[in-house]
Amino acid sequence: MAKHFDYICIGGGSGGIASANRAAMYGAKVAIIEAKALGGTCVNVGCVPKKVMWHGAQIAEAMHLYAKDYGFDVDVKGFNWSKLVENREAYISRIHTSYDNVLGKNNVEVINGFATFIDAKTIAVNGEHYTADHILIAVGGEPTIPNVPGAEYGIDSNGFFELNEQPKRTAIVGAGYIAVEIAGVLSALGTDTHLFVRKESPLRSFDPMIVDTLVEVMAAEGPTLHTHSIPKQVVKEADGSITLHFENGESHNTDLLIWAIGRHPATDKINLQATGVETNARGYIKVDQYQATNVEGIYCVGDIMEGGIELTPIAVKAGRQLSERLFNNKPEAKMDYTLVPTVVFSHPPIGTIGLTTQEAIEQYGEQNVKVYQSGFTAMYTAVTSHRQPCKMKLVCAGADEKVVGLHGIGYTVDEMIQGFGVAMKMGATKADFDSVVAIHPTGSEEFVTMR
Ligand code: FAD
Ligand code: NDP
Repeated sequence: MAKHFDYICIGGGSGGIASANRAAMYGAKVAIIEAKALGGTCVNVGCVPKKVMWHGAQIAEAMHLYAKDYGFDVDVKGFNWSKLVENREAYISRIHTSYDNVLGKNNVEVINGFATFIDAKTIAVNGEHYTADHILIAVGGEPTIPNVPGAEYGIDSNGFFELNEQPKRTAIVGAGYIAVEIAGVLSALGTDTHLFVRKESPLRSFDPMIVDTLVEVMAAEGPTLHTHSIPKQVVKEADGSITLHFENGESHNTDLLIWAIGRHPATDKINLQATGVETNARGYIKVDQYQATNVEGIYCVGDIMEGGIELTPIAVKAGRQLSERLFNNKPEAKMDYTLVPTVVFSHPPIGTIGLTTQEAIEQYGEQNVKVYQSGFTAMYTAVTSHRQPCKMKLVCAGADEKVVGLHGIGYTVDEMIQGFGVAMKMGATKADFDSVVAIHPTGSEEFVTMR
């Protein structure tokens, strides 16, 4: 006999946990099925361990680049990578406990195992069958490995978090968030780090001001950036090192190779065909604006939905909104995917909301777009010999100069932009920004004093 629930969430990651808890809080009988560890990508092999490593890298930079000019006679005796990893994993283990507690408090049944569909209403886990009136698919994605000979000699971002020793030399292939973040962390921690991008720059979808500044800082501080580098073959040498050969004829020898070329949805192993749920050619699940698939009673949120944005708060919010709609009598509750603030934890960090200059021109016409920019040396670095730029930009549209794009790169930009996201969601104009009294001396004051 199958055990029946009001709601089953497949995948105990960002989207699944958020949706399950919210549904249970409204009295629904809920189960969540997780094949690995609660918390999913974000908690176990994503945002959380990444941010811990980034903080470690910030401390290394403070000691190596800035402390001396602030008058400290610092003698760094060493860096214990495995100590940092141990403390990071202990922290993650505490997050697991807290998830267990909250799910327990909400009476959500946690089923450990890999879920596959039997039909559109029935799921099998470890030989047991479960049915539900409503089923959420939130199985997330997996790192993609390129199809080049020897690709197996490289690791992916999951493998990066398994490293118990600091690599001496690392090559990272990729041009997105993960490549830039991991390269920045390793470089700041002292690994000889080389970032290989296949086109002219990393983060090509970001505003050019951001990209140019990032490339400028990389040239000054590392990692070493190699452009127009398309991997052709990877060779494992007799001494255990790895040589990457590129289509441009160049090659690079390293100790560790990390692929960071994007992720793909984990929908291929759940027997989705038994449900009739439609996907696109790449396996992303098609949903309407209410997260509903083409099959009644089956929904999808997070990294596996077509046209989504692969960020934890997106999965969380979409999951919660769905539960508000299904279990709290809010038929119009839905996720708003516009003006999403996002940060790349690069060195220095990048924050961005809304349209790039080019996107604004395409949407509003060049004559209707006005751009304000500011550039300065971050004060934290200005008194040292390692001066680092901070650049900011507001993209405004229409006669009232509505702020449709906000971009920044520099010291603490990661902590500056959340509140500006609120203002932009409320439709703030440049005049609204200017009406606010600046907080001095900060970097964020530049966003309200641009001329
Ligand atoms: P996931 O969190 O991936 O959860 C899916 C879960 O489903 C997993 O636990 C998996 O084990 C489980 N599962 C899969 N198949 C089955 C099955 N058949 N049965 C049972 N369980 C199954 N986002 C940010 O916002 N900020 C960041 O700083 C950030 N940093 C990142 C750094 C890295 C290195 C990576 C890889 C990602 C990062 N992200 C970040 C993205 C973020 O982690 C994802 O967008 C988010 O985790 C997606 O949530 P999800 O619920 O869709 O899927
Ligand atoms: P992304 O999709 O961000 O970037 C991958 C990039 O790698 C592509 O854009 C492409 O850039 C390049 N690429 C693709 N295929 C190849 C190839 N065969 N060889 C070389 N380069 C290739 O993927 P990530 O894996 O970096 O991250 C996945 C998502 O996770 C992100 O988009 C983001 O949403 C989320 N994330 C968020 C973080 C945060 O919020 N701070 C941190 C980490 C991840 P190009 O076309 O320019 O070559």
